[in-house]
Amino acid sequence: MSNNSSRPNKIQTLRQKRRKDFFVLIFGCAGLLTLLLFTGGISLAEWVLANLVLILGAIAYFEGSAHYHVASVEADTEPAATESANSKAYEDTVHGLINGLPFPTILINADGRLEVANAKAKEVFRLVTDNGVRASAALRQPDLLAASIRVSDTGAEEQLAFKLPNDGQSWIAQIRPGPKENTVIITLEDRTTIRRAEQVRVDFLANASHELRTPLTAISGFIETMRGPAKNDYAAWGNFLDIMFQQSERMKRLISDLLSLSRIEFSEHNVPSTTIDLSPLLVAAIDTLEQMAHEKSLKIVAENTDQSFWVVADPDEMTQVIQNLISNAIKYAADGEKVIVQIGAANTMERAESDISRGIPEAAHATLLSPQASQKVPAIWVRVVDEGSGISAQKLPRLGERFYRVDESRGGRIDGTGLGLAIVKHILARHRGGLAVESKKGVGTAFSFWLPRGNVPVRHG
Ligand code: ADP
Repeated sequence: MSNNSSRPNKIQTLRQKRRKDFFVLIFGCAGLLTLLLFTGGISLAEWVLANLVLILGAIAYFEGSAHYHVASVEADTEPAATESANSKAYEDTVHGLINGLPFPTILINADGRLEVANAKAKEVFRLVTDNGVRASAALRQPDLLAASIRVSDTGAEEQLAFKLPNDGQSWIAQIRPGPKENTVIITLEDRTTIRRAEQVRVDFLANASHELRTPLTAISGFIETMRGPAKNDYAAWGNFLDIMFQQSERMKRLISDLLSLSRIEFSEHNVPSTTIDLSPLLVAAIDTLEQMAHEKSLKIVAENTDQSFWVVADPDEMTQVIQNLISNAIKYAADGEKVIVQIGAANTMERAESDISRGIPEAAHATLLSPQASQKVPAIWVRVVDEGSGISAQKLPRLGERFYRVDESRGGRIDGTGLGLAIVKHILARHRGGLAVESKKGVGTAFSFWLPRGNVPVRHG
């Protein structure tokens, strides 16, 4: 635009300059000829003739070359105009690209103002507009602003991890030189989920080490005692050895649960492919735990296990789920009561969830795992109900967290790793199923899971 309007001005200036050159040339040469005339170098006739030739020659030259000079002005202006049009198209492309990016991106111009901030960036920095806002006002993060100024000055790209006030998100910013000199492009990557996963891992490792160290400390304490103060107290040794055995058994259980958990986590994204009948698995699990129930004078009652209930599942993992739930019911129920194991079908996953949460009157509910399968597909559900002391409502949602144990339900006496329900939850997640709990203090607890129903296998022959 500015280049086009300057074109007539340039031609005008050029004309004035050429006119000046013309008179300077004419008068300069005429002066020289006059000097020659006065010094007798040339005659008057030669002076007149020479001046005539000079004036005509000069006129012919200046007129003849006028087009060439105008053309050269045009040649000078046109690339500038084309360049300007190109630069505008380039800018539009860059802006379009930034606006189309799926992650927050900002372009800051050489004056330190926002040239473009795409919708995601506006969301992050809570900007109403990106039109010329000063970066110092828009970027609500001093380190990010300082980095963008450095990149604008030096052209050397930088990376920065930061959090914004009042939003708890963890961001990584890549700050790079922009398409023009001293401009800066900032792209943001949301690291919140990764950070949280890292934190979960760190906590898990800390918990696992702590849980393993407790029995190990007890064992090595007793060894010290037997080697030192109780060296010859053989009467006490039997008791010490009993405790050491219990502690080493506890360590074995912990290690085996930790291994199960890591194995299941490893295969969590592979959906199982075998179709199995859950009823025989329930019957087998009840048989296995019969002795444990008998020791507590408990009765395990199975309902509906004479019918088939088909699901697509891994039989070993399903056995582990059922055994963990029934053994918990036995462990945490008082002596002389019964544990009921029920199985059933529902038209939809949604329906299964509502059917299984209406068992214990006035009980509190918590969904520990929401199913990933569609809510509309037919479902099979399993429910394990006990008449134990129950769990208070506010503690229900935490069940299934690794190492979480409810003190009130075990009174510090019942041994466990706090990993059983976490294993159940991971297995069910792999099967795209759900897990829920309902409990009422003094009445009992029911854990239920539900899975998409499998097709009844076609029998050949
Ligand atoms: P563990 O039984 O090894 O401690 P779990 O992950 O199986 O670990 O269970 C976690 C906690 O949930 C238990 O410590 C217990 O406090 C509580 N819990 C589980 N099942 C029941 C139940 N049927 N009745 C009461 N509390 C239970």
